[in-house]
Amino acid sequence: MKIKAQLSMVLNLDKCIGCHTCSIPCKNVWTNRKGAEYMWFNNVETKPGIGYPKEWENPSISRGGWVMEDGRLRLRAGGRIHKAARIFHNPDLPVIDDYYEPWTYDYEALVTGPGKKHQPAVRPRSRITGDPMKIQWGPNWEDDLAGVCETGARDVNFAGLDHAVYLTFQRVFMLHLPRLCEHCLNPACAASCPSGAIYKRDEDGIVLVDQERCRGWRYCVSGCPYKKVYFNWKTGRSEKCIFCYPRIEAGLTTLCAHSCVGRIRYVGVVLYDSDRIREAAAAETDPAVYPAHLDLFLDPSDPETAAAARDQGIPDHVMAAARRSPVFLLAKTWGLALPLHPEFRTLPMVWYIPPLSPVAAAASAASEAVETAVDNLRIPVRYLANLLAAGDEAPVRNALKRLTAVRAYMRTVRVEGKPDAEIPASVGLDPESIHRIYELLAIARIEDRFVVPTAFYPDGSHRHAAQGCAGFPECR
Ligand code: SF4
Ligand code: SF4
Repeated sequence: MKIKAQLSMVLNLDKCIGCHTCSIPCKNVWTNRKGAEYMWFNNVETKPGIGYPKEWENPSISRGGWVMEDGRLRLRAGGRIHKAARIFHNPDLPVIDDYYEPWTYDYEALVTGPGKKHQPAVRPRSRITGDPMKIQWGPNWEDDLAGVCETGARDVNFAGLDHAVYLTFQRVFMLHLPRLCEHCLNPACAASCPSGAIYKRDEDGIVLVDQERCRGWRYCVSGCPYKKVYFNWKTGRSEKCIFCYPRIEAGLTTLCAHSCVGRIRYVGVVLYDSDRIREAAAAETDPAVYPAHLDLFLDPSDPETAAAARDQGIPDHVMAAARRSPVFLLAKTWGLALPLHPEFRTLPMVWYIPPLSPVAAAASAASEAVETAVDNLRIPVRYLANLLAAGDEAPVRNALKRLTAVRAYMRTVRVEGKPDAEIPASVGLDPESIHRIYELLAIARIEDRFVVPTAFYPDGSHRHAAQGCAGFPECR
């Protein structure tokens, strides 16, 4: 068993309000440069929809990730030899119109233009060519279901559902899906790179592009099934989310998580067994990937795991952070968070808590209501299962039932003053766990949401200790 520590994130979709505040500091700090105008390391999509870039979730179009073929795990778009044979022509790349042509407005004309009878208007101009342009698509084109009557039918998460029914005014539903690089355990971007320029940091699992080694072949762009590597047309190199590693090394959380208005993001350490990555990624069926992935996560409170981790050089303060990790609690202990499209087999490490949606029965305190509430939710379970569990409804139902139970039980505590112990039992939890989930999800204190150890070294020292991390005295 080879134990590694990975910085990872959970997003609670139940609370995302689609405000895009997370995207703004990320854009301002990391991609506010020439050649990076169209890049959004963090973007927020509205589902149903086809997203950014268009139809990134459709593997027959995006051609990213891994597939099982003849019992072997292969890159969907072919391995390195296949790529080397056609290195000057990659037919699987998204084009700028799949993202959007970035634009600005001719603000100068407002100040310098001649006086006119009518109020002046500013025209959009391409930030690539500088020419006037007609805006036909944007990174956020489908915001709050705009235009979904046209694009929604191409949303692959409707598989097994009649999309025509769910795109009618009476039945339509909506959720926001914030997205960033998944810092996968089995990154297809790295495996696709002919130059070996993409690497996964040993100490915290952050996936980075070595700008010195990148030769701009762009196979990482097509190889990533989440389409979270971008090509900078100015530098001729690929770029991607760096999980704000300069902040992480200082014990601070990422900008998107720090700025999140809805307090939906959780950042923490997860220990995993890296010897079994290939086995998990090569699970026999697509729905079997999620449980195999979850099985890689190791319990940092287990004395044997802790001793093995120490022997393998994982510093004590990282272990202390792993024991307080909100990500481990939400994903492994309670099974509330699930991976995005596990069928891509990259073993993503940004997980999502599925959203509850309006349902009258959920407000009831009875444990039977918890059972039936999930089937009455406005967002079909099948849709969420296609998004977060490769079509397997069981883990989604389990998570939704537990979330409903938290609401129902806390209502008996807070409103009725008579805690109903049957409710936690009906979903395999105890009252103490329900209180802990409630505190983590509903109250969401900063020191509980972000448990980030400072940069660590083999001898356990760390030079950024003075900045520390909130509520984590071991770091100071
Ligand atoms: S999500 Fe990130 S780590 Fe995973 S394949 Fe894409 S770029 Fe690589
Ligand atoms: S800042 Fe938070 S609540 Fe707002 S869109 Fe981003 S993830 Fe959602």
